[in-house]
Amino acid sequence: MALHRHAADDDSLQTRPQFAEHGETHPVPKNRLPERGMPASVAYEVVHDELLLDGSSRLNLATFVTTWMDREARDLMAECADKNMIDKDEYPQTAELERRCVGMLAELWHAPAHGHATGCSTTGSSEAAMLAGLALKWRWRDRRRAAGAPDDRPNMVMGANVQVCWEKFCRYFDVEARLVPVGPDATHLTAETAIAHCDDRTIGVVAVLGSTYDGSYEPVADIAAALDRLAASGGPDVPVHVDAASGGFVAPFLDPDLLWDFRLDRVASINASGHKYGLVYPGVGWAVWREPAALPEGLVFDVDYLGGHMPTFALNFSRPGAQVVAQYYSFLRLGRQGYRAVQQAARDTAGWLSDELVRRGPFRRVGAELGIPVVTVAVADGEPFDAYELSEALRARNWLLPAYPMPPALDDMSVLRVVVRNGFGRDLATMLAGAVHDEVAELRRRHGGQGARHRAGFHH
Ligand SMILES: *Cc1c(COP(=O)(O)O)cnc(C)c1O
Repeated sequence: MALHRHAADDDSLQTRPQFAEHGETHPVPKNRLPERGMPASVAYEVVHDELLLDGSSRLNLATFVTTWMDREARDLMAECADKNMIDKDEYPQTAELERRCVGMLAELWHAPAHGHATGCSTTGSSEAAMLAGLALKWRWRDRRRAAGAPDDRPNMVMGANVQVCWEKFCRYFDVEARLVPVGPDATHLTAETAIAHCDDRTIGVVAVLGSTYDGSYEPVADIAAALDRLAASGGPDVPVHVDAASGGFVAPFLDPDLLWDFRLDRVASINASGHKYGLVYPGVGWAVWREPAALPEGLVFDVDYLGGHMPTFALNFSRPGAQVVAQYYSFLRLGRQGYRAVQQAARDTAGWLSDELVRRGPFRRVGAELGIPVVTVAVADGEPFDAYELSEALRARNWLLPAYPMPPALDDMSVLRVVVRNGFGRDLATMLAGAVHDEVAELRRRHGGQGARHRAGFHH
């Protein structure tokens, strides 16, 4: 989490007259633990009022994270807020629901029917990435030792468009991050660029199903086939991990014929964020390995469970059980049909919004047609404003739309991105398209007309 620096000061918050005791309101110290407490209702109001300045999560089009759930789901989460996921012995039914979720995901991602796929819940895809990366590193090390080859300086191959969790994994666990540059032809990793970066020290290739930059799916099947050929020709035998943080809950429902999952023998493990298109509030993620051999035993710790032991794989110990329960709820509540309907609605909205922005201008679409429901557009050349200025202007209308540069090699291009999620339908999209249109006109007017000012350099 954010690293906060301590500031010693006497700042205080003022409670409102309604909460006065004996006619006096008490200042509440802001940065020190108060000496005395206050009634729950007063503390509630103080905290509640502080949070008024947070943006509205539903209008936060920057986030992939679920911002709407049924009331019943929220009730269940509140009922489970006090359950610690790690206490398998005390809360065996929560553990059982986690087991069922892993089974459902293994099946959804086509794990071999009797292959004993193994998986676990995590706090999100980032933790899942650390676990999957560690499994790859340990397997590589074991193979190297068995072959009597040096096991230092491991590397991992991935596109420069990967989410930061993979750079984090590499730095924290001492693996060289081989970031493959993306280029004008593809905004993500390709089979050719992936194998060109592999060698004997490559622990794995990470393929992303749903790039965070433009939503595009990386060609997992092509990458796997190229690695098959590399191994068959005497080159290194490199496993694939699929980072399906978003796509793991989209592709199975909307693109069932796309080969990206355990149907490809080379795919050793998959992660996904339950709290993104898995339709659960933050934080829950999932990691699944195709077979026990893909997960070295040395990484597994046992906890007590019903008089015996249960194997666990996690970075943290205590963690709330509510999100896992909510994931199981969502699976039951929606079923395959429900997930398909929700994701299709999001894809339809994204398609409509993208067309509408391009039609009304001045935007051009960035990224491939196939992917997660994300709309990424660049401001056309010759405009007197850039993506950052437009993002800023839209913020004043309560719309949170991030502007950012594309990954290295394409980073002279800045884009605006809208993540279309459950709860952002055609009505809101229509309002957003109208707001963008109005702000474009306003920015042009303020700058004295189209093309009046040469576009300033970007500040990344
Ligand atoms: C969001 C995301 C992550 C990180 O996932 P968290 O669940 O937020 O930890 C990793 N990879 C991709 C492709 C993502 O979209």
